[in-house]
Amino acid sequence: MAGRCRTSKGALLALRAAQSFASRSCPRSATAAAPAPAPPEQPLADPAQPLPASSSGARHQQPPAPLPPPPAVDFADAQEAFRSKSSGELARGLLVLGLCSLEPLVDFSRKLLGQWLFEKLMKLTFYGQFVAGEDQEAIKPLIRRYSACGVGSVLDYSVEEDLTTEEAEKKELDSCTSAFEKETEQREKRYSVHRKFGDRRDGVISARTYFYADEAKCDRHMDTFLRCIEASGGSSEDGFSAIKLTALGRPQFLLQFSEVLVKWRRFFHQLAAEQGKVGLAALETKLEVEKLQEALAKLGVATKAESQHWFTGEKLGVSGTVDLLDWNSLIDSRTEISKLLLTPNIKTGQLEPLLSHFTEEEERQMKRMLQRMDVLAKKAVETGVRLMVDAEQTYFQPAISRLTLEMQRKFNQERASVFNTYQCYLKDAYDTVTVDVELSRREAWHFGAKLVRGAYMEQERSRAAEVGYEDPINPTYQATSEMYHRCLDYILEEIRHSRKANVMVASHNKDTVKFTLRRMADLGIHPSENKIYFGQLLGMCDQITFPLGQAGYPVYKYVPYGPVNEVLPYLSRRAQENQGFMARAKEEQDLLWMELKRRLFAGTLLSTPALS
Ligand SMILES: Cc1cc2nc3c(=O)[nH]c(=O)nc-3n(C[C@H](O)[C@H](O)[C@H](O)COP(=O)(O)OP(=O)(O)OC[C@H]3O[C@@H](n4cnc5c(N)ncnc54)[C@H](O)[C@@H]3O)c2cc1C
Repeated sequence: MAGRCRTSKGALLALRAAQSFASRSCPRSATAAAPAPAPPEQPLADPAQPLPASSSGARHQQPPAPLPPPPAVDFADAQEAFRSKSSGELARGLLVLGLCSLEPLVDFSRKLLGQWLFEKLMKLTFYGQFVAGEDQEAIKPLIRRYSACGVGSVLDYSVEEDLTTEEAEKKELDSCTSAFEKETEQREKRYSVHRKFGDRRDGVISARTYFYADEAKCDRHMDTFLRCIEASGGSSEDGFSAIKLTALGRPQFLLQFSEVLVKWRRFFHQLAAEQGKVGLAALETKLEVEKLQEALAKLGVATKAESQHWFTGEKLGVSGTVDLLDWNSLIDSRTEISKLLLTPNIKTGQLEPLLSHFTEEEERQMKRMLQRMDVLAKKAVETGVRLMVDAEQTYFQPAISRLTLEMQRKFNQERASVFNTYQCYLKDAYDTVTVDVELSRREAWHFGAKLVRGAYMEQERSRAAEVGYEDPINPTYQATSEMYHRCLDYILEEIRHSRKANVMVASHNKDTVKFTLRRMADLGIHPSENKIYFGQLLGMCDQITFPLGQAGYPVYKYVPYGPVNEVLPYLSRRAQENQGFMARAKEEQDLLWMELKRRLFAGTLLSTPALS
């Protein structure tokens, strides 16, 4: 098999490459046990809190003045919600929301009107409502206008190729299968590509989708993201920029690496079950080293003498147990225990290599992807912009999340410059959040998270049903909301204790926003501490965004931008919003009417928006 790199160890190399980008290693600061969160780094705004006895002279200083309580937020105040908008923009908002509710009209309008008329209609309506402008320059007025109302921006370059379903499927099939796999049937079904689900845009409304063509195209995406980061840096002091990792490389690598990570975690839980540790939370599941070594020897994975070496030293097993974080750290080239990377197949009981083979060309592609991520994160740090890595489908997400975590280890030493995204519709969201927070605690870097419910539900569910694996999504909307609030509460507690964590509550759900405000008050986290942010998409739920901004809460709009024709494919899908959105849109429509009527009677219908 000429030209093929049989000895390369795909995903392990990925991690090795990711880690080699790190300029310094991250020491494990604590023992393997998950301790109670560290005490606060800086005093809370609580005058009753005693000063530290060791701070000489501090006893004679006045305690810091308490921060004034944040003003109440009124989400029914139409005047406040739309103060940044002209009456024309309000009328357009009403029209667009109205059009969204007419599903058949949207479905058939392209055919009915013809391409030319359809595009004209889209430009006048949806583009103006959901997209900020064609390029970095064109979007500046909107960013300034929002900023004057206390609303920041997460710039999101939103072009999408206008591919037919067949074209999308072909690209996906070509880019998700390695040369090695074309000859063998190695990957689990969940992490293999399936023609029926090759068009990843299906059933996804508000997220745009990238398909791999070649490395040059990924470089162009990187350049675009770089310009987007520069624009964020140039337009505000504390901006964000959003990126998607599927734009930066061949998705085959994300699939393979995801499979490795998931199999490895599954092996941990299998070993835990053998020790009678079932049904515990991820961080509470701890393997006794003695028994673990025996089990590994019995399975033929490693002799006791070999595994002795893995679970000693400052890295592992300090407390005599191994938890999931210790276990995960074994997928790490620095330990050089490649034999460990065999896992038993649950069905057959046979040992299988955890890693897939990459050709030299595939290996180069993988390294280029990591380099692109690194270039973007460096640029973000240089320009003072925070980089938000979007979450995508579950068959890519474990790899996306792990690679983002590697960037956080490197770039979040001083502040949270890189943010990961957690989808709370996933059954394992709480475990993922708690494990990552714990890692940031042990290694003393700044945790940064965006919490969302998740955008790919329908696609995920039908893929799981059709391909034949467990549905990764919570069974009900209620369960997703509970998961969201549970994950959020965990991070809020972490912020209370260390002030090192940061979270963006990315949701249009008023109850979730109210829940956050209540918990912030309970926990004594003031909005001016700039630790908890809120995020909504441009053109949606201004009645949540603007009152929050006016009350002094850090709040951001995801601001898509890009040339009209290139954003249209994404917008056409936006025009087919789902029923959940429409229920909320009714409330927004009522508020828009209320404000238009108020302006009419006040004689200010034609005035320009007041922004002070
Ligand atoms: C600023 C911002 C950034 C975002 N970034 C991302 C991202 O990176 N990745 C991503 O995937 N999404 C992202 N989203 C989209 C997000 O995940 C949601 O799809 C969207 O915001 C709707 O959720 P909600 O909380 O706003 O509203 P809600 O109406 O309260 O929630 C709707 C959501 O609940 C969940 N849900 C609905 N019905 C059920 C059910 N029967 N069972 C289980 N769960 C159910 C689904 O996730 C659905 O989207 C982002 C959203 C915002 C506002």
